[in-house]
Amino acid sequence: MAASADPGSVPGASTPGASARPGCVEGAASTGGRAQLLASERALFEARTPRSRSAYERAGRSMYGGVPMPWMLEWPNPYPLYARTARGNRIWDVDGNEYIDFCLGDTGSMFGHSPDVVVDAVTTQIPNGITTMLASTDAAVVGELLTRRFGLPYWQLAMSATDANRFVVRLSRVLTDRPKVLVFNGCYHGSLDEALVGLDAEGRLVKRAPTDTNPAWIAERGAVVVEFNDLAALDRALARRDVACVLAEPIMTNCGMVLPEPGYHDALRALTREHGTYLVIDETHTLSCGYGGYTREHGLEPDFLVFGKAIAGGIPIAGYGFSADVEGAHRRMFGDGTARIWGEMGIGGTLSGNAYSVAVLRAALERLATPEAFDHMIRLGEQMADRLESVIRESGLGWSVTSAGARVEIQFTPDSPSTGGAALAAFDWDLVELSHLYLLNRGIVITPFHNMMLVSPATSEEDIETLAAGWAECMNALALATQEP
Ligand code: PMP
Repeated sequence: MAASADPGSVPGASTPGASARPGCVEGAASTGGRAQLLASERALFEARTPRSRSAYERAGRSMYGGVPMPWMLEWPNPYPLYARTARGNRIWDVDGNEYIDFCLGDTGSMFGHSPDVVVDAVTTQIPNGITTMLASTDAAVVGELLTRRFGLPYWQLAMSATDANRFVVRLSRVLTDRPKVLVFNGCYHGSLDEALVGLDAEGRLVKRAPTDTNPAWIAERGAVVVEFNDLAALDRALARRDVACVLAEPIMTNCGMVLPEPGYHDALRALTREHGTYLVIDETHTLSCGYGGYTREHGLEPDFLVFGKAIAGGIPIAGYGFSADVEGAHRRMFGDGTARIWGEMGIGGTLSGNAYSVAVLRAALERLATPEAFDHMIRLGEQMADRLESVIRESGLGWSVTSAGARVEIQFTPDSPSTGGAALAAFDWDLVELSHLYLLNRGIVITPFHNMMLVSPATSEEDIETLAAGWAECMNALALATQEP
């Protein structure tokens, strides 16, 4: 699929790949060191984006931080870019610069920006009701499609993956009558207090950022943290039999990327069963592994499965599925016909399951997140991983590439890390800032918080080549800058 042309292009604005400027690189590096390279990249960014700067200055007078949501400040640029248009795998900023987008809204737009299927579904449903507190008949179709895709028999919808995770945690606690939630060091599952925790070098529970809630309060509310791939620690934690659920991504994707070691998922499933703990698989990001997410690709058997973000082409909707055992436990606790107790347990929300987002979800499940779309994304994801590996090899930098389907991560360590702690320890924020800004100045967007790159159905082989060339040039510039006395 070709990216569409920007409807209102700005004369003199740049296009991706067209601005590979060896002269600029050498010039920056020759003035000495990474600091100079960073200064020159910042200056280049500022020269390219005067309208973004004006937008930022205006927004900052009323919108706290100049953006409507704090994560939008987490980019490497001196001030945020303001987007004018996004379509397919392209973004155009307010200055008219065009970018190839490998961030794709941190997965929210994994199927491309404003895909026709979503545009059609939105324009069909919006004039016919947005939210009524009544179910639409699309809901049954969506339930059937989700069961066919992911395998679990029962489904409920939420507004965001954060919400869905919160609801599943709540249900697990009610049904097991246990207080604790086990997560893995380096995880992210949305803004749940229980999941905004980590481990320090001595294995003690710590808050993840200075602004997170006090870890002692979080521990009181039931967070337990262990390292991914550490089965002995998991067994010890579950053996206390006070953990309601393990909340896990099947691959860790928010601290860099950490793959499960062979046999890990089987053991995780066996231990959770043995200790009476529910297993929640959060597929919010790992839908990128295939049509039925990692769960379907690898035959996992979770008690709960959470999805969100990309599932309806970026329209806010998410949800969770659960097994017949969970349904049985609920019935035993509350009796037949008491599904309404679910709501009285503090689960759901006024806008959850609204007619508009359910209609879009149906259309996306039927016509957007198709096996054909995944075939393309996964083939190009593998190609992207291969190209980046060879660029890194040629550069002599001891970095690694870890990939899962359409999702690829560069980590600043020679081997893919096996725990979240190791992945976080390999982070070099100065390098992240410099390399991301370098790519951005050459029309390439990657995920700001780490080095994640994602393929959409609109991504082409040529786009992958442009990305590989951008990284190669960046690595060359870094090497030159580092050689400076
Ligand atoms: N689960 C995972 C694995 C995530 O990565 C995220 C967000 N990055 C969430 C849940 C929360 O998603 P949202 O912010 O859309 O609620």
